[in-house]
Amino acid sequence: MSGSTITPWVVGNWKMNPMQADAQQLIQDFKSLLQAHPIDESSCYIGVAPITLALTTTQTALSSANRMVYTVAQDLSRIAATGAYTGEVSAELLKDSQINFVLIGHSERREIFGESAQVLNEKMKNALNAGLTVIYCVGESLEQRESGQAEQVVLQQICDIATVVDSEQWQNIVIAYEPIWAIGTGKTASPEDAQAMHAQIREGLSQITTYGQSMAILYGGSVKPENAVELAACPDINGALVGGASLNAESFHKIAHAFANTK
Ligand code: PEP
Repeated sequence: MSGSTITPWVVGNWKMNPMQADAQQLIQDFKSLLQAHPIDESSCYIGVAPITLALTTTQTALSSANRMVYTVAQDLSRIAATGAYTGEVSAELLKDSQINFVLIGHSERREIFGESAQVLNEKMKNALNAGLTVIYCVGESLEQRESGQAEQVVLQQICDIATVVDSEQWQNIVIAYEPIWAIGTGKTASPEDAQAMHAQIREGLSQITTYGQSMAILYGGSVKPENAVELAACPDINGALVGGASLNAESFHKIAHAFANTK
């Protein structure tokens, strides 16, 4: 089965942005764009990942959109359930607030906050066991790409989680391939390079899980309206994880529109 039969996802990662008033305006503008130029729910899943503090206000504001726009957590605790863990938010607490999606393994969490494969596995296990859908980020650094290790690094990151994901839980995972050198830099992987890596990821997934052919594999790294159509045209690119461009309602809407209409 071709990856192109998979419903695409376009998810905005707002990272540690924006201030409250700007976030509300951004949501309002996005809802107005969806009203003026609808994007059919069956042609593209759309989500946004605000700061933890804004998860429920974002969800409430999005509930009046003319279609489902999912609210995604940017992170969760490696500790499950509830307890004396100052500053933490567990998978169960997210689920309790009807937040059903979470990012795990973003390169900023791996690099800036030193999250190891072991920590990511604890988060993965908690998220899946609580019934969340996980957007699991993988990607190589510039040095790794230049030394010919990109594929090996990315496939290892996929293999890392295989030890904690049960066979049926793979259907609750979306992969986001984000070459680190393309994040926030304005440099995008060429559609050919991105497609080649996505095909490798799909091949790797298919050796681990029977869901490999039906899992969405998103591309992330300086996705913008100008490159979205070309990326969307690649058979194994099933959507985008969008950082900077998701902070502009018009750009984000255009990217979602591109994926909805090219797939
Ligand atoms: C990201 O951080 O997930 C990302 C892809 O950022 P940007 O689109 O800004 O490169």
